[in-house]
Order: sequence, then structure tokens, then C-alpha cells
Amino acid sequence: MELTTKGRYAVMAMADLAGHADEGAIALSVVAERQNLPLAYLEQIFVPLRRAGLVESARGRSGGYRLAKPAADISIAAVMAAVEEDTRFTRCSHNDPRCSAATPCVTHWLWTALGESMGQFLTSVNLSDVIAGGRYSSAPAFAAAAGRMTGKRTYLDYNATAPLRPEAKAEMIAALDVPGNPSSVHAEGRRARSVVESARESVARLIGAKPSEIVFTSGATEANNWAIAQPWATILTSGTEHDSILAPARAARAEVIMLPLDRNGVIDVQEFTASILSREFAGSSLLALQFANNETGVVQPVAEIAALARERGIAVHTDAVQAAGRMPIDFAALGVETLALSAHKLGGPKGVGALVIRDHIDLVPSIRGGGQERRRRAGTENVAAIAGFGAAAEAALRDLEAVAAIQALRDELEAGIKRISPEAVIIGEGAQRLANTTAVALPGKLAETLVIRLDLACIAVSAGSACSSGKVGASHVLEAMGLGHDIAAGTIRVSLGPTTTKDDIAAFLTAWTGIAGAPALAA
Ligand code: PMP
Repeated sequence: MELTTKGRYAVMAMADLAGHADEGAIALSVVAERQNLPLAYLEQIFVPLRRAGLVESARGRSGGYRLAKPAADISIAAVMAAVEEDTRFTRCSHNDPRCSAATPCVTHWLWTALGESMGQFLTSVNLSDVIAGGRYSSAPAFAAAAGRMTGKRTYLDYNATAPLRPEAKAEMIAALDVPGNPSSVHAEGRRARSVVESARESVARLIGAKPSEIVFTSGATEANNWAIAQPWATILTSGTEHDSILAPARAARAEVIMLPLDRNGVIDVQEFTASILSREFAGSSLLALQFANNETGVVQPVAEIAALARERGIAVHTDAVQAAGRMPIDFAALGVETLALSAHKLGGPKGVGALVIRDHIDLVPSIRGGGQERRRRAGTENVAAIAGFGAAAEAALRDLEAVAAIQALRDELEAGIKRISPEAVIIGEGAQRLANTTAVALPGKLAETLVIRLDLACIAVSAGSACSSGKVGASHVLEAMGLGHDIAAGTIRVSLGPTTTKDDIAAFLTAWTGIAGAPALAA
């Protein structure tokens, strides 16, 4: 269970560079002398460290190396991996004939678990923790261990997807036993049809629409694509929209006009009136404006903009995915032509949603080949998913009363974050926001790093939008708000739901205390 010389020397040399980062590139002979390490050995170790992108070599006469990233973004596990240090701690993993996969030895799982914990610990500690003098021994790794011991995870990523509500699950299971096709005329078919129609009524009730206005789709991505892919001559939209609006708009033949936003990402009504509405638009035009943003929770003045657009004969589509069930929506009064919904953001299943289409509006279908959904969207209905959507919509309507309680938890979370890390920036703080969402940036930290470290501490949150997770980079939403790359690449989203508790907020803040590198939270 001993780390090899190579691994230990690599970490020492990297910590030396981290501790002297203000000196620029440092010759290896200097590192060797300061840390009392053999120079020839260091020269060998720095080849893989450079190849792994952890250090950069400086050219010129003096030469030398510097860290290629901030010390806080280089984990000890990454240093070990670069020099091919094997951090497993069991002979069982080295093909020992006395312990095989089929017949593991008596201590096999003990050493495996130890190796895993060690791996997680080394991932959670970075070079800046090391040079801070041992603070790494506490927070994130400890919280991770504590979380793992109790097996309790804290889910704070409702804007990516909300956990399935028990009511929705029960309805789905019941619907799975309904054998008929909703288009069939026999009793089994009529039963399936009634499941779909009663869900349609529930979804309509949630947003103040008529059941006849609801067209079930495979989700909001389909609903948004459908609304955008009509033969519009002009599409007016904004840079903070979801990709399922922006990508089809870019692909359309229409002229695309980006609406002016203020620094909170809210459409600037005055500038909209002055610069956009003073123009002439040839042919039919659509304005696509989201109800609330998925990353920041910032709410747009949809009704006000829709009224102005309507005066100019511009049709309006709103993506209400994040707002539905989190704030009251009255489709009848909103003045928009179409509205997109997604079941899984409000506790229904994934893979079902709706486009709500005002009764007199005719859209060109994008899926053809059947008479379902009153010829507007072909294909046999996903009866179980629709049943789950209906049950979730009913529960979400009921839970609208609990929004104030969710907001109190969100405010407690934001106050805690600011107390622990006063440098934290809450995005869109000055604007009207969804009660459940906070987007927070910690300058100098990469969002991906924060998300991974929180995950290790058993807390689930997102960097940017979940749909783009896995992709390292800045959020297009935050960039469209005019925030610099540092903030746009350093913002995490924490989103709450009806099952979030005070304990969840406390668990987040405990983990954050270690991750933000601040002193312990005051009582
Ligand atoms: N619009 C917004 C604002 C969203 O947050 C999402 C989901 N990330 C979508 C559209 C797409 O919804 P779905 O997952 O149902 O395709």
C-alpha cells in the first residue's frame, strides 16, 4: 500500500510549482534543490506531466516549467495518472492466482473498497489544497465518505430532470396494463383512449388551456422544433434560449433576428419596441421567447412582449418547460400562439411533452403518417408516459402552493453560499427568477471541477445546462448575457424541488465549505 517514488516525487514537484506560481517558469534544477529530489528523475517525470497537459515548458535560455492550469484545477489523481502511478491497493487486482473474479479471496472487496475510497480522495484533493497545508484532510473527501457511509445523496438538479413523482409512477404502471391502442374502436382501445384524454385534461388544467389545445409529443425538444420549423420568413429570438429553439432557428430558411437582452438576460422591452418593432417584416414572423431560463431561472415578460408582437402581427411561441409547475401559467391570457412543455421537469417521465397550440392555429405537422392527435402529430401515443405526465401535472398544480417554501430554502442556500464564499456571484440576482433555481459562479474555479467535487461529496448539481454536460466549455446562456468567460465557464446551477428539505441545503453548504476552500461555516 505504498505509493511509488515516481508518484510521490511528481506530487512534490507539482506542489512546488503551485507554491511558486508567481515566479513564472521554474527550472527543474531549482525544484530539485528546493524539494531535495534527484534532478535526473524529475526530468523523466516531467515528460508525461507535460504530455498530460498539466505543465507547460517555457522556451528560451532559462527554460523551466509552470503549471498549465490553476492549481485548484489539478487533482492529485490527475498527477498520479499522468505518471502512470497505480493507486489500486490490492494484490487481487494484479491477477493473483489466489484471487480471481470467479473466486475472490476473503479480503478482495475490502481492498477494492479501500482503493475506490483512495481514488475518490485523490480526485477530491488538488494542488492548491496541498499547498494550503493539509486542509484537504477535511471537507469534500470527508463529506463524500460520510455520504457514502450513509448512502445518502442530495439531489439538487431539478431543472435537468425532477425525480418521478409517486403519483406519476402509479399511473404509469396502471396504464401499462391497458392493452388497447387508443385509436382502436373496441373496449380495450377506448380504455387506452380515456387514459390519454384524462391526462390531456390534467395537463390543460395546469396551464389554463383547453384540452383540445394540447398535442402530446416526445418531449419539449420536439415541441420547440415543431413550432420553429414552420415556414416563417422571420424568427425573432434570443441568445439565452434552449438549443432546441436555437438549433432549428439556425437551420431554418428564415431570417433570424436576436433580441436585445439586459445584463440579467431579460429582454429589453424599450429597446425591443424601439429597434425591433420599428422594422418592417416581410412574410410571416415568429417570436420565440422562453418563459423562464433553465440555467438561471430568470423569467421573461412573455405576456408584455406577446401583446406588443401581436399588434405587429407577429406570432409568439414560448418554451415554458422550466416555468410549468413552478409558477402559475395562464395560456388563455398569455397571448401566445404556441407553448412547449416537458413532463420530466415537473415529476413526470422523460420522453413525453406537449406543444400547446391555440385552437384556431394550423401548424404544418412535422411527423406524418397517422391521424393521431387530431392529425397534428402522427404515431401511436405513448399511453403510459402520457398517463404519468397527466398525474405529474395534477400534482404540480397542487404543489404550486409550496413555491414559497421552496423559495425560502433557495434563499437560505444563497445566503449560506455568500457567507462561506463572499466572492461568489449569483447570476440574475436582480431579476425576477424561478423560486427553485440559483446559478452561482465562483471566480477562478471551473464549473466542471465544482460539479465533480460536489458529486464526490454526494451532491448532484449541474454545470451550465444538463443537456450540455459532458462538454467542457462556457454556457451559451451566460455568454449571451454578456458575462465574461471566467463566469460563463465557472457557473454551477443548483435547482430545488418539492421534495427538497432543510437537510439537503445543510448538506450542500457543508460540502461547499470544503470546496470553496473557506474556513468552517459559522453557526
Ligand atoms: N427547453 C428547456 C428550457 C429545457 O430546459 C429543456 C430540457 N433541458 C428542453 C427545452 C428540452 O426538453 P426535453 O428534455 O423534454 O426534450
